[in-house]
Amino acid sequence: DTSSLHAEVVVLGGGPGGYTAAFRAADLGRQVVLVERYPVLGGVCLNVGCIPSKALLHAAKIIQEAQEASNFGLNFGTPSIDLEKLREWKDKVVKTLTTGLAGLAKQRKVTVVTGVGRFSSDRSLTVETAEGPRTISFDHAIIAAGSQPVRIPGFPHDDPRMMDSTDALELAEVPKRLLIIGGGIIGLEMATVYHALGSRITVVELMDQIIPGCDADLVKPLYQRIKKQYENIFLKTKVTRIEAKSEGLQAYFEGDEGAPESDLFDRVLVAVGRKPNGHLIGAENAGVKVDEKGFIPVDECQRTNVPHIYAIGDIVGNPMLAHKATHEGKVAAEVISGERTAFQALTIPSVAYTDPEVAWMGLTETQAKAQGIAYDKAAFPWAASGRALGIDRKEGMTKILCDKETRRILGAGIVGPNAGELISEAVLALEMGADVEDVALTIHPHPTLSETFAFAAEMLDGSITDLY
Ligand code: FAD
Repeated sequence: DTSSLHAEVVVLGGGPGGYTAAFRAADLGRQVVLVERYPVLGGVCLNVGCIPSKALLHAAKIIQEAQEASNFGLNFGTPSIDLEKLREWKDKVVKTLTTGLAGLAKQRKVTVVTGVGRFSSDRSLTVETAEGPRTISFDHAIIAAGSQPVRIPGFPHDDPRMMDSTDALELAEVPKRLLIIGGGIIGLEMATVYHALGSRITVVELMDQIIPGCDADLVKPLYQRIKKQYENIFLKTKVTRIEAKSEGLQAYFEGDEGAPESDLFDRVLVAVGRKPNGHLIGAENAGVKVDEKGFIPVDECQRTNVPHIYAIGDIVGNPMLAHKATHEGKVAAEVISGERTAFQALTIPSVAYTDPEVAWMGLTETQAKAQGIAYDKAAFPWAASGRALGIDRKEGMTKILCDKETRRILGAGIVGPNAGELISEAVLALEMGADVEDVALTIHPHPTLSETFAFAAEMLDGSITDLY
């Protein structure tokens, strides 16, 4: 029977969690089948997430920097934007990576089955392939079916001018006026792109700050900059209704930040979060527990309540980040292969690739206060960094929290260009149990933005008392 297949390990979902788990299990000698509904691997991250967004953000950065270079006497004039070429380039970046993944799967003899899979029992999956249903029996399963954008009930989501992040990344056009609902990481990254391409942006956020979850002082330099660039940013405000009209999308607002009662936009991007796909995979047929929201609870070995079924990535919980998914994928594959391992990362860093970037890791100050943890903090202003001045970006800041007694690093946050690259040092410091003196005594190359991490540590260990 060619329609049925047995796998030592079946992986459901070919995103960063799924393909990493599949490849690791194959490398450890397991016979692996990877089930993915789309004909390309890579999931959200490679196809419609991390990778295309960062490619477009690179283009945005060049436009923005060219404009601001007039501050120091370089005048480039208005960029001429070939949208089709930009789109093609972004698609090529994605294609290069997804093609690479297909090659890696082949090399490892991972069987890729294309189609939507659902559990039919705790030992089998049924996959709807183009050739008809296919049954895959398994010894172990790893669920890596990810998440999808949340929609707002009652909004005209079927109107082509209403976008989710996937639509926004397609770059069908540059709308004159774009409304972005949701001031989180994804909404603000897309705002950065469309602003640079020429859209007038309005951002609406329900909470009292953009990027809720990040410390307010870290978000402030970003907020101050985009407040000047964008048409409007309304905090503590809600979009209650959207009417699709021939001349545009009429949005109605409710809130206390001075938003008008209603306004007309050419397009609307809804970026109000993502929901896990736990309810869409027939988990009940396998006896796998799924919570109300659609998350699948797991232990630190990534095991679900059914001992031979594992789950990883966005579907197991927040933060929904690719580097968390890949890390969990390795753990599941290794546990299945008999290794004694567990997910024990001390922190999962977060990055908004906005302009400036905002990155943080470990304990936030808000959390430290809420948990009553005794900490000391230093915030090094980039206005005192020669390198930051030399790139004309003095609004940045590097902050470290340390334990009041042991002086060990508890958390850190960076706002400024390249913050996403710079935060890795803080993550390493935390994982290695470094204290502020360890960081302060580490010689950093001068003049770099990375020095600001050492300067903040020096402020905490007492070797810098005066910044100027
Ligand atoms: P996914 O990537 O969602 O993959 C799940 C896969 O399973 C999909 O390919 C799906 O088609 C498949 N699937 C689902 N159900 C079935 C089924 N029943 N049968 C067969 N296949 C199925 N994270 C970062 O760390 N950095 C970033 O810069 C970043 N930027 C982002 C930008 C955007 C616009 C978005 C939307 C997300 C971004 N993320 C980023 C988040 C990141 O994309 C996710 O955290 C990551 O993709 C999660 O990986 P995963 O393997 O859990 O799931």
